[in-house]
Amino acid sequence: MLSLVAATPASAAWLDRHEAIMGTNIDVELWHEDAAKGNAAIDAVMSEMRRIDALMSHYKPESQLSRINQRAFREPVTVDPELFDLIELALHFSQLTDGAFDITYASVGYLYDYRKHVKPTEGQIENALPGVNFHNLKLDSKTHSVRFSHEGMRIDLGGIAKGYAVDRGIGLLQARGVQHAVVTAGGDTRIIGDRFGRPWIVGIRHPDDKSGVVTRIPLVDTAMSTSGDYERYFDEKGVRYHHIIDPKTGHSASKVRSATILGPTAVQTDGLSKTAFVLGADKALEIIERLPDFDAVFVRPDGTVLYTKGLQPPDAEK
Ligand code: ADP
Ligand code: MG
Repeated sequence: MLSLVAATPASAAWLDRHEAIMGTNIDVELWHEDAAKGNAAIDAVMSEMRRIDALMSHYKPESQLSRINQRAFREPVTVDPELFDLIELALHFSQLTDGAFDITYASVGYLYDYRKHVKPTEGQIENALPGVNFHNLKLDSKTHSVRFSHEGMRIDLGGIAKGYAVDRGIGLLQARGVQHAVVTAGGDTRIIGDRFGRPWIVGIRHPDDKSGVVTRIPLVDTAMSTSGDYERYFDEKGVRYHHIIDPKTGHSASKVRSATILGPTAVQTDGLSKTAFVLGADKALEIIERLPDFDAVFVRPDGTVLYTKGLQPPDAEK
């Protein structure tokens, strides 16, 4: 027994830190045998989140993403391979989701300001909507350049960059030998290892009750993304205006209240977590069931919950 005690240095610890980066809450929790090294690993993850934000934020006029939006209709804009690859991956998710996921949503999306309760008029939506179409995003992989074939269109990576950042953070931790950790950015989480020999228990919150839980799922070595209509929104005359936009209509997509996707990486689960809002729970379920290694939980507007086969509670058939 003495040898066991000796094998664990006195400074071993679970560490947990929160910071606000990328316009959202970042949380890193990990186990390290050396608390100083564990803290240095968390520092590295936070720096990585800031680096990705500086590259991809649409709030920062000097970011490469902003440069695309400013110039890509006039000329091809060359960007870092990293940003190019993520845009290419975003197009892949557009194809996989029948266009429900579409980073050109921003052509209309920028007309909303949820904090200030601003929404576009029908006329404004009609004018901007032709800019929402991922086919108008032209990528040249030889030069890593991006071009718009429609004037006035914009892109935004808010629906995939957090998942990407979480995966990068986990990669940094793994390179430092960390074996038990969870990294979260907004609705996107990835877990490596277990917690004291047991799965991490992650709750899916109730759409109308911050402290209520629809279900709890035990997770090990998984990514999980939840999208909800309660994250950024305002209500007006009984209508909820929220941050997930239906690329076909330019209005908030409201076919579910929340959607949770489980899968191997957070960039993938993030790219898929908007689908059910736009296509509805049944169609989204079909798409997820076709993908090996993915599962989903959807909360419909009437409060009923739909699970993929891999997650069905034991009493679901009753
Ligand atoms: P979080 O940022 O908390 O992880 P989500 O993963 O649900 O939230 O992503 C919501 C974000 O996705 C929106 O704030 C917006 O930036 C972006 N977005 C909204 N509609 C679409 C869409 N149809 N396709 C791709 N991205 C979208
Ligand atoms: Mg997300």
